[in-house]
Amino acid sequence: MLDADFFRRWMAATAASVDREAERLTALDSPIGDADHGSNLQRGFKAVVAVLEKDAPATPGAVLTLAGRQLISTVGGASGPLYGTLLRSTGKALGDAAEVSEAQFAEALRAGVDKVMALGGAAPGDKTMIDALVPAVDALGEGFGAARAAAEQGAEATIPLQARKGRASYLGERSIGHQDPGATSSALLVAGLAEAAGE
Ligand code: ADP
Ligand code: MG
Ligand code: MG
Repeated sequence: MLDADFFRRWMAATAASVDREAERLTALDSPIGDADHGSNLQRGFKAVVAVLEKDAPATPGAVLTLAGRQLISTVGGASGPLYGTLLRSTGKALGDAAEVSEAQFAEALRAGVDKVMALGGAAPGDKTMIDALVPAVDALGEGFGAARAAAEQGAEATIPLQARKGRASYLGERSIGHQDPGATSSALLVAGLAEAAGE
């Protein structure tokens, strides 16, 4: 079973890896975006860790809804509302249980990813964070390690795609040949799950 502390560890692990990889995320956002993805998420997840330390929510659902709200209010740009919606909707789907099973979490995360697709209008293959998140959710039934591998593969598979959503889509065919920054940060988010689980 996964408790509130697991979800706090997830956010802390993600904040740490986003911090380590911020320059790379921003570099990926340079040829097909506006070179701010690393700094956007660095600011956002730092604020998430701070608010979770201050408020210490007691349930998994409360941890994720608070984290999502914090991302929405601190990250400008497309990724803030999208990641914020992901975490907030996942948290809402978890309700107010003190502990949740991995299967319940997988179902809640799928609801969160569906909300992100509804908000941003992106589908798999559009060269966005969705290309890492959907494979990760599909693999989550086989464990956090499988989800991490699926997200990393999904992020790499964005390289030959042409962007159909977000800033990169303004480039048309010139977006081909670059890995999507948001899919790359989504792989870090999913890797944080395995880290929180001690894998
Ligand atoms: P901005 O493009 O506003 O500067 P960021 O650089 O922080 O925001 O985030 C860019 C990432 O957001 C993209 O790499 C992509 O993965 C994701 N993204 C952008 N638009 C959408 C969308 N409509 N649906 C899903 N993901 C999106
Ligand atoms: Mg950007
Ligand atoms: Mg921007």
